[in-house]
Amino acid sequence: MKAGDKTGAQAEIDRLRVEIEQHNYRYYVEDAPSVSDAEYDALMRKLQELESAHPELVTPESPTQRVGATPLAAFGAVTHAVPMLSLGNAFDEEEVRAFDKRVTDTLRSSGQLGPASQPDYFCELKLDGLAISLRYENGKLVQAATRGDGQTGEDVTANIRTIRSIPLQLKPGAPRVLEVRGEVLMNRREFERLNAAQAERGEKVFVNPRNAAAGSLRQLDPRITAQRPLRFFAYGWGEVHGLANRQTGLFDEPAPGVRQAATLPRESHSAMLDWLAELGLPINTQHNRKATGADGLLAFYARVAKLRPTLAYDIDGVVYKVDSLPAQKVLGFVARAPRFALAHKYPAEEATTALLDIEVQVGRTGAITPVARLQPVFVGGVTVTNATLHNEDEIRRKDVRIGDTVIVRRAGDVIPEVVGPVLEKRPADAAPFDMKKKYPVCPVCGSAIERPEGEAIARCTGGLFCAAQRKQTLLHAAGRKALDIEGLGEKLVDQLVERDRVKSLADIYGLTVEELAGYDRMGTKSAENVVRAIDKARTPTLGRLLFALGIRHVGETTARDVARHFGDMDAIMDAGEEQLLEVPDVGPAVAASIHRFFAEPHNRDIVEALKRQGVHPVAEAAARSGGLSGKTFVLTGTLPTLTREEATSHILAAGGKVSGSVSKKTAYVVAGADAGSKLANAQKLGVPVLDEDGLKQLLGME
Ligand code: NAD
Repeated sequence: MKAGDKTGAQAEIDRLRVEIEQHNYRYYVEDAPSVSDAEYDALMRKLQELESAHPELVTPESPTQRVGATPLAAFGAVTHAVPMLSLGNAFDEEEVRAFDKRVTDTLRSSGQLGPASQPDYFCELKLDGLAISLRYENGKLVQAATRGDGQTGEDVTANIRTIRSIPLQLKPGAPRVLEVRGEVLMNRREFERLNAAQAERGEKVFVNPRNAAAGSLRQLDPRITAQRPLRFFAYGWGEVHGLANRQTGLFDEPAPGVRQAATLPRESHSAMLDWLAELGLPINTQHNRKATGADGLLAFYARVAKLRPTLAYDIDGVVYKVDSLPAQKVLGFVARAPRFALAHKYPAEEATTALLDIEVQVGRTGAITPVARLQPVFVGGVTVTNATLHNEDEIRRKDVRIGDTVIVRRAGDVIPEVVGPVLEKRPADAAPFDMKKKYPVCPVCGSAIERPEGEAIARCTGGLFCAAQRKQTLLHAAGRKALDIEGLGEKLVDQLVERDRVKSLADIYGLTVEELAGYDRMGTKSAENVVRAIDKARTPTLGRLLFALGIRHVGETTARDVARHFGDMDAIMDAGEEQLLEVPDVGPAVAASIHRFFAEPHNRDIVEALKRQGVHPVAEAAARSGGLSGKTFVLTGTLPTLTREEATSHILAAGGKVSGSVSKKTAYVVAGADAGSKLANAQKLGVPVLDEDGLKQLLGME
């Protein structure tokens, strides 16, 4: 269809409107969407584009002109004194710059902004929950309503009263009428806990925390809401009427007919939020920031993008708001959103796609992990074709079947996972997945698969006979934290194992340039590089060699601790469990695992073979004396330049430890902005408190 083809456009517009309204109903009324937000947004964009190409076809009923969906009649109806709107959206930098330019131009031409000045914005997280309006009269919570269609919402007062972070009574200084606008949401972890419990009881599981929050709040029985872990953040207001005068304690009645802005106590959005906080409302002060100009907005977006995977709750973007209220007034509104605010979205972390097959991967220790083969789908900023399904129980719990349409999630750099099926789209012939039937034996080596009683993981019993386990063992040994053999990657390891050239780690050391040069994708040059890297790996530290052996439960830190304690490989091989338990931080499971490993003759043979190949580990350097060895740190609040992960890794690198709670044994508490109870605890217990500079000095970073 061409954009200019009016009848075609009308038909397409009608089709899109019907489809979008169906999704709106499922999302806003039933709290059970059947498409991902990204798919919904794409439909909405298409409709917007068609309508802007054919402005004469725009109707007031079009979903582009309206907010949300009609409220459910089962709840009482609440007419919002000030409508609850949506937000304009931006998906890229260009759209953000265009927004800033529109704002700047309007404010300059109206005299709100000097010719050389840039607008000041207030930036917030775009919380992925549901919008709520709380009405306080004379400081008391009298009504709470959902957004509904923006004009009329549902009365959820009884349910809202069960959320503990929402004050039922505001602090002194509240106006006669105050409508607070904010978001009700659920933490991701709580959501997962809720879903697991729902599944166990055979009740409805929710697609994501947003729908769980909405479904929990829109309950006809408030006792159910009370059991759900809901949170609330305020980010705006509706009607404000009759302010209390702080000095006299009396209410300043506004002039007749004057409402809202004229009676607002502060001149800017951010100052208003401070005021709401003073009245006792929860505001997301930890992440809200001021910014100037488009560059300031984009810097905020980038900063929050890094934070996003570490947040306890989902956000789907950030929101920029012109901070000055007089400037907001000049900018005004379009049909369903203010012109002074913009939502800048992040790539969706969830998408739906087809589950083509369930295959299994065999890991280094034989663990069999089911993997979903997916119709490629763009999610979390990359195209995903495989996603983990963790284990058989997980597949059963989620009831994921081959042929299903599934929701795939990829948050930050976390491995993509299958969240669950979209049941409405399940093909009639999709059968529950039966691991034993599909994989009676290891698909790589044909050995038996065992699943010990009480364990979630099934394992291939093939050991190093299984090519998959051998490959993973070699890749692990060649890894950066182990023997660090550059060039010994997946492609080469595949060939070495498939040709049966390498049966154990020791065989690696016998490889020659001549033979490797004949392998696929290898020339003489790369073969020389690999052999040189192997040579270099003849003198690893003892800890690295121990880690390279791939003993269960022995990570790089444990390997280093054990190496430091015993000093040489023979002593470790001959150590009993008791002796192993003497190593700091080694517990019974680790001790037993090391002991069991070296009790196996073929593992001892590998160590002997390594010696014959001229592999001689060097002693582990002692822990840095005078460093932070053994000292425990607790981090709290936001540091000015270091992220929590950065600070943690610096402390660990210097031999220190990081813990989550303050005790008498804590050496230092490192406190940044908005530090909470941990700082108070430190002060109570007399634990020294450092700021970022203090930490850097201690670490010798300055
Ligand atoms: P929106 O979610 O894009 O933006 C407006 C909303 O943002 C507000 O109502 C408020 O609830 C929220 N918000 C969060 N933090 C805020 C803050 N700091 N300041 C102001 N507002 C804040 O718009 P919308 O109209 O609510 O709905 C569109 C969204 O819903 C899209 O993300 C869309 O993908 C999704 N949706 C999905 C389906 C589906 O079937 N998957 C259907 C309908 C809507």
